[in-house]
Amino acid sequence: MGSRYGRTIRKREEKVLVVQRAKHGCPVCGKKNVKRKANALWICNSCGAKFAGGAYAPETAVGETVRKFLEGQQTK
Ligand SMILES: [Zn+2]
Repeated sequence: MGSRYGRTIRKREEKVLVVQRAKHGCPVCGKKNVKRKANALWICNSCGAKFAGGAYAPETAVGETVRKFLEGQQTK
């Protein structure tokens, strides 16, 4: 009981990990060099800007795109 549900959750977590590992656009310099440093802390490797964002993606226009991407995957 619950094994099918657990598998679905794990699949979704894999998608989130892919987004977390992906490089995101920097709102300061615009370069795609932003990496997740901590839970909601993001740092740009190009200009060194640090900013708080979402836990899984920066709260920027790029983050919006990522969120739409994730929502699209989940409704599949
Ligand atoms: Zn930057």
